[in-house]
Amino acid sequence: MPTGLFYHPVFLQHEMGFSHPERPERLTAVMKFLEEKQIIDTGHVVLHTPSEVKLVDLERVHPKDYIDLISSASAREARIDADTRTSKGSYRAAIFAAGAGIQAWNEIRAGTLDNAFALVRPPGHHANSQTARGFCLFNNISILARYITSTVPDSRVLILDIDAHHGNGTQEIHYSESDILYLGLHQDGRTLYPGYSGYIDELGEGNGKGYNINLPLPPGTSDNSFLQGLSNLFPPIVDQFQPTAILVSAGYDAHFRDYLTNLQFSATAYLKATQLIMETAEKYCNGRVIMFLEGGYDLQALSESIYNTLVTMSCQGVPIPEEAPAEDPRISPYLQKLLSELKTLLKPWWNISK
Ligand SMILES: [Zn+2]
Repeated sequence: MPTGLFYHPVFLQHEMGFSHPERPERLTAVMKFLEEKQIIDTGHVVLHTPSEVKLVDLERVHPKDYIDLISSASAREARIDADTRTSKGSYRAAIFAAGAGIQAWNEIRAGTLDNAFALVRPPGHHANSQTARGFCLFNNISILARYITSTVPDSRVLILDIDAHHGNGTQEIHYSESDILYLGLHQDGRTLYPGYSGYIDELGEGNGKGYNINLPLPPGTSDNSFLQGLSNLFPPIVDQFQPTAILVSAGYDAHFRDYLTNLQFSATAYLKATQLIMETAEKYCNGRVIMFLEGGYDLQALSESIYNTLVTMSCQGVPIPEEAPAEDPRISPYLQKLLSELKTLLKPWWNISK
């Protein structure tokens, strides 16, 4: 079965003002690039137009008064926080972005798609249940995670977040849950937004203790160190957690050309990360993977990296090779040490021997 690419022109109606990096051109550039590369509607990648989320599904994460607040902010074109603004089309874009994941999941359950990529905006992973921030209004990935655990008996969802920024909203929403596990690899918060979160000792609370895992990467981290961290943590946790589905907050702002962060990934890092994600998912959850676009602000880096992701998810096309910049030699030994500290912290819940 093919890979579903979920995209709607309504996503372009959300605008945060002149010169804002999270801009409609991100999606138009990606769509143009994918069309030039002739990867869409080949039988391997099928374009789907999502519908808006149902209120009952949105309300599993966001209370009604918060939903109304976003709707009225959008009607007034209000600024919500220092870097999150709305336009008249923002609410509509946000409810369609929130609906894309659920539609993708239902297609996968019905057997019409193998996996899916939600090419959406606004992004979601900084929004918690009652706070819009960091360019995010509704938490798209959490809405799908709760939809799955509410509608599939005895289900578990693993959320992997590889955006350069820590997914603080997603972490906060699921911090005390054991059926939704958050695993995030991101730039160290001491050097990047949001800053206060994403450290190795944030392990969850109550029933969710042990089900929240963070690996903060130092500025300058390049492909090999990132992939080493991912391959150390992700497969053994999937093996022991046995998720029903794997959802990925696919941010592309860790690319070396991205001007918002200091990580140094290449487009090849996204290719290899997707290979590892898909191989692991094939083994444990029938390849049920849904990726959600989060960040990524350099249009060329974003387009090429998403293309590499889709090539891998759909097993067609020729990936774009790219070499990452050389990494500071101090980073690899630092990360080895951090990984071993994290493994020790995780011992009561997870056996990560590698
Ligand atoms: Zn980001």
